Amino acid sequence: MSKGRLFVISGASGVGKSTVLAKVMAARKDLQFSVSATTRSPRSGEIDGVSYYFVTKEKFRKMIANNEFLEYDAHMENFYGTPKAQLEEKLLTGNVILDIEPNGAFNVRRERQDAVLIFIAPPSLAELESRLRGRGDTSEEQIQVRQKRVAWEMEQSRQYDHIVINDRVDTCADKILQIIAREAD
Ligand code: 5GP
Repeated sequence: MSKGRLFVISGASGVGKSTVLAKVMAARKDLQFSVSATTRSPRSGEIDGVSYYFVTKEKFRKMIANNEFLEYDAHMENFYGTPKAQLEEKLLTGNVILDIEPNGAFNVRRERQDAVLIFIAPPSLAELESRLRGRGDTSEEQIQVRQKRVAWEMEQSRQYDHIVINDRVDTCADKILQIIAREAD
């Protein structure tokens, strides 16, 4: 029997989910982060085994064949998956947070109906686009791809248990903490 509750958090691309999540995790030290496996390369500052398990495509395929994932999905030409054993182990000791995209979130819900799905949304799509353009490092083509992805993600958000708008990081983190406090076992 698992002791903890599973919280699945997704967000529209570029919404600032990592910053919000960092605040949430800092405020509730009991929350355990489920470390996903991915075939993408580490970004600067990311640590293997903490941010992700960075694995080759070959290793990822082996993990699929060995039925090691609770769910996995392809995203931007890379694979991402939630290792089952690690998650079960963490749930035995307490509450767990999964940071995964909508396809993964719905697959988790199919496996574990008691999972709480939280979606972080931008104040507006126009605001998200202007933030991306403001960074100045993204081509028009990439912006179009990103906007399509965001529109799809927003569409999926209707199936989440909670939608929290990230107008201010602190307010957004507080709202998520309130949901967790209400729903945690
Ligand atoms: P990033 O490459 O920016 O770290 O993550 C890209 C997307 O993959 C994000 O939406 C993130 O939530 C999602 N993601 C991370 N880990 C997993 C996972 O284990 N499964 C699924 N389905 N998505 C994941």
